[in-house]
Amino acid sequence: MIEDKNPKRTPLSELGEFKLIEHLTEHFKITQKSTIKGIGDDAAVLDYGKKQVVVSTDLLVEGIHFDLSYVPLKHLGYKSVMVNLSDIYAMNATATQVTVSIAVSNRFPLEALEELYAGITTAAEIYNVDVVGGDTTSSTSGLIISVTAIGEVESDKAVLRSGAQPNDLLVVSGDLGGAYMGLQVLEREKEVFKVNPQSQPDLSMYTYIIERQLKPEARKDIIELLKQLEVKPTSMIDISDGLSSEIIHLCKQSKVGADVYENKIPLDPQVISTCEEFEIDSTTIALNGGEDYELLMTISQEDYPKIKGNPNLTVIGYIAEESRGMHLVTRAEEKIPIIAKGWNALNNQA
Ligand code: ADP
Ligand code: MG
Repeated sequence: MIEDKNPKRTPLSELGEFKLIEHLTEHFKITQKSTIKGIGDDAAVLDYGKKQVVVSTDLLVEGIHFDLSYVPLKHLGYKSVMVNLSDIYAMNATATQVTVSIAVSNRFPLEALEELYAGITTAAEIYNVDVVGGDTTSSTSGLIISVTAIGEVESDKAVLRSGAQPNDLLVVSGDLGGAYMGLQVLEREKEVFKVNPQSQPDLSMYTYIIERQLKPEARKDIIELLKQLEVKPTSMIDISDGLSSEIIHLCKQSKVGADVYENKIPLDPQVISTCEEFEIDSTTIALNGGEDYELLMTISQEDYPKIKGNPNLTVIGYIAEESRGMHLVTRAEEKIPIIAKGWNALNNQA
């Protein structure tokens, strides 16, 4: 499905490990004050002064987390940085550096890795982080990418999962379910393509949800918005596995319960129409579909006037005492317990 724009295929064996690393990394510049030494020594040297440092790692494995038959390598590079930056922003921190480690089989030519690194470079430039190191090794089959993101936060500003209090508002950024429905469309087109490789799918009615799946954006803008509004959430988490499982994480760690209103959950019209087409319930998708990389937070009632009417933030419910449990209040005003169905990379992906 992805046309090969770059037909040249240079075997990695032609370069060897050191030339390959040099080739992939020589263009990375240092822009962060905290980066003292980046790529090129045994370790990077970072200095955050009085700030606290936050660190997060993710591992992406071909065949488990991504399928190269419809994921362009450039998008994969971009997304592998995004999923990590999202974790840094979920701490209310600013991302400053990443390291990128890859394991590749000889199935990949140099040009494929150049594409991957083009995506990584774009992400680093747009989100203003330095690439300060990594590791490169071989793999017998697929591609494995591990990114570690590092960020900084003033010592009283870090937001944990554990700070939610009864009566706080439950707030979500953006809209939900898009990335999962984008994946459904891509999987369907892959099946069509297997049967008829000549088919040229018209995906124009799915552009938003496909972009949500292939090229997600971490919500750096929301962290900046909260700062500008002078709102410090009482707790926060990024939505990588689906709203229900993130609500459960927040509530368990904060020892509270919650009521979430079905009619408040923000959905893009394209998510609603694609759910209708696939005959799936859009609320189920918003609750259990993964990879939206929005932020779920709790905000004290006092701060409500500051966020009221902001198109980027939606109040979807309230925090309650732990003994009240966690519930979805449906449009029919029924209360259904929230359970962790979640989106599980171990059994839900091709
Ligand atoms: P070492 O033998 O100490 O592991 P390497 O030769 O693997 O050193 O790496 C040399 C430099 O290049 C180091 O600064 C390392 O962090 C960086 N590096 C290695 N692989 C990558 C990669 N895939 N992406 C970014 N930087 C890398
Ligand atoms: Mg190494």
